[in-house]
Amino acid sequence: MRKSFFRLGVLGILGVLGILVSCNKQQAVTARPSFCADSAYVYIEKQMAFGPRVPNSASHTQCAVWLIEQLRAFGAEVELQKGFMPDYRGNNQQIFNIIGHFGAPEQASRARILLGAHYDCRPWCDEEPNYEDRFYNVPGANDGASGVGVLLEVARQLGMRDTILTPVDIIFFDVEDMGTPRVYTGEEREDTWCLGSQLWATSYAKINAPTYQFGIVLDMVGAPDASFPREMYSTTYAANYQQQIWNTAEKLGYGTYFNNQQSYPITDDHYYVNYLAGIPCVDVIHYDIRNATGFPRWWHTRNDNLSNISKSTLQAVGEVVMSTIK
Ligand SMILES: [Zn+2]
Repeated sequence: MRKSFFRLGVLGILGVLGILVSCNKQQAVTARPSFCADSAYVYIEKQMAFGPRVPNSASHTQCAVWLIEQLRAFGAEVELQKGFMPDYRGNNQQIFNIIGHFGAPEQASRARILLGAHYDCRPWCDEEPNYEDRFYNVPGANDGASGVGVLLEVARQLGMRDTILTPVDIIFFDVEDMGTPRVYTGEEREDTWCLGSQLWATSYAKINAPTYQFGIVLDMVGAPDASFPREMYSTTYAANYQQQIWNTAEKLGYGTYFNNQQSYPITDDHYYVNYLAGIPCVDVIHYDIRNATGFPRWWHTRNDNLSNISKSTLQAVGEVVMSTIK
């Protein structure tokens, strides 16, 4: 994802003028929703063990297969959306979006909720100060694996329920992070980011969109010092849902993560879910106004590794998601 400089003018006008629980059954007696950060952490470790999940690599394919197997093991009906989108050079890039359905729509009393995260890793560490280091793959512990890890644990929790009143689709978007690299000397286009969600929003969602209530996208949700200000596109397109999610976080005691600062608009998968599919969708994304890029120091560097993942943060994000979809 990247900070969106291009649409800032328009949206500036349109826009807004740890508690750790154990993983046993005891948490059912508290008001806290069931969510196990230990489990989410293991799912992040597993993704990291494949190596960087860079599109067109063996690590990426192995991870995709594993994600499908996990969703099926948790009881989801899994669909694969395959297709092609032009990359930053204009070449066809293969896309594999993985969609896990929980709860049969015909038996449900309410429209579906979409939960998304990207599972690919960025092929280039653009933010490395040394030019040579920019050609390494991003390890992607936070940028990719953290959102997927939290959603896999959400999937596991959903799988343990007898009935699912509100059906949930968990979508692992592909090729979010292959936007024009800084080392490329050609034209930089904004629509080279989020290729998987663009494909989904222009095709799959056209058939299914009316049945969705809203969506949440998680991206970079595992750092110990995570800060989730209110992202501007979400405020513009899905203000009520954003408010609801941030209220839920406050009630759960996670207001320090889900703070009330307003961030710039960020081009992330939620943007295309909103803009192209017309589904109100909120991005929960680490944004740090103290850094020049707006993103954390390890963002798009070789340091996006497990040392920057905290179970306390995963627990906070997981509980907020579970409370919101309950
Ligand atoms: Zn990224």
